[in-house]
Amino acid sequence: MNILVLGSGGREHAISLKISQSPKTSKLFVAPGNAGTSQIATNVEVGVNDFEAIKALVLKESINLVVVGPEDPLVNGVHDFFLNDEALKSVPVIGPEKAAAELEGSKEFAKEFMMRHNIPTAAYQSFTSETLEEGYSFLETLKPPYVLKADGLAAGKGVLILRDLQEAKDELKSMLVDSKFGNASATVVIEEFLDGIELSCFVLTDGTNYKILPTAKDYKRIGEGDTGLNTGGMGAISPVPFADSIFMDKIERQIVKPTVDGLKTDNLPYVGFIFIGLIKVGEEPKVIEYNVRMGDPETEVVIPRLKTDLVEVLMAMANGTLDQVDLQIDERAATTVMAVSGGYPEAYEKGKEISGTETIEDSIVFHAGTKLSNGKVVTNGGRVIAVTSFGKDFKEALQKSYQNMEKLHFDGMYYRKDLGFDL
Ligand code: AMP
Repeated sequence: MNILVLGSGGREHAISLKISQSPKTSKLFVAPGNAGTSQIATNVEVGVNDFEAIKALVLKESINLVVVGPEDPLVNGVHDFFLNDEALKSVPVIGPEKAAAELEGSKEFAKEFMMRHNIPTAAYQSFTSETLEEGYSFLETLKPPYVLKADGLAAGKGVLILRDLQEAKDELKSMLVDSKFGNASATVVIEEFLDGIELSCFVLTDGTNYKILPTAKDYKRIGEGDTGLNTGGMGAISPVPFADSIFMDKIERQIVKPTVDGLKTDNLPYVGFIFIGLIKVGEEPKVIEYNVRMGDPETEVVIPRLKTDLVEVLMAMANGTLDQVDLQIDERAATTVMAVSGGYPEAYEKGKEISGTETIEDSIVFHAGTKLSNGKVVTNGGRVIAVTSFGKDFKEALQKSYQNMEKLHFDGMYYRKDLGFDL
């Protein structure tokens, strides 16, 4: 099969590596890809939202399967674009159609979906600039901290958690009236604060059947001890030690099954990955958010643990035969540590030469923000390289990731040395 992966991060490198290892893969393309994917696939200079250029590529290279990495093209309707095009409609796309991608594209849509299907989540109400005063009154009924969420996609920055009531009111106004997050905050969801420990659950679905992938926990803050600004993710651990079989059973019964059944009842066509952001409050799982694709860096620990041929799994998703797949998972723990550019998540420089990747042993190097420049691998983003390792438990795996991290170098390189501190 000829396969195209859309995206350019560590997630896409991890997915592409697994696909490249399948005997079913003839040619693998990544658009636009990074320096890592260029070693295992053909990178093509096509943007993930340039649907016409994607079409030309699919036809030129006789692509038989498209795997969408990031949320943007899904929310923009890339799957629908294929279905509505005579020349493309027989090419399966892994990723939900636009209507279902609203689970990530709109927080209000996701909350309404959860309410409709009795899926445990935080109590909420949503507001627009016309109902600002009601928003203030709702805030007054809540206890701090206050959780304000821009309804639309805001590059992971649209959620504010505030301790002070006046500050929460000011931010609400700034989101609704002054368009703090542009059109994304034209509607704001105000939510009850949930106090607990977070984890992520990943589900594969063909629209009817589902399979649950290993859980993972990521570390979002830039600073050790979970301090400082939020980032795209500084590392991840899989499985999550506190997600025992009793807890996983609750997640499946109360969340995963009602989600997949709900998508079907609501006529929301979904072939793809569902990323369920969860919080464990006491012994109960509650949904914080849905994402309509895999997480990054969670993919860099979840996908390497998959022993079943990924192309076989993806084709079963596309063909509606996921129930016939026996998902085999590596029992070992996996960890990934992300090296980032100095200054990230604020301003940082690009173009720094990366050295040492060839000296890394017994770990997998996943490229994120890298590119080839005059034959050299240089930094090309905030999150640069993830080092994934296996171990009998996450501590052993982390030790390997950290030992190998010391062999990597680029100017300004930074990584957190305390992953797993809270487990
Ligand atoms: P989201 O984009 O919805 O995942 O929110 C970003 C982050 O905000 C989450 O990963 C949580 O750490 C935090 N968060 C979101 N909603 C809540 C909530 N209701 N209670 C506590 N923390 C939350």
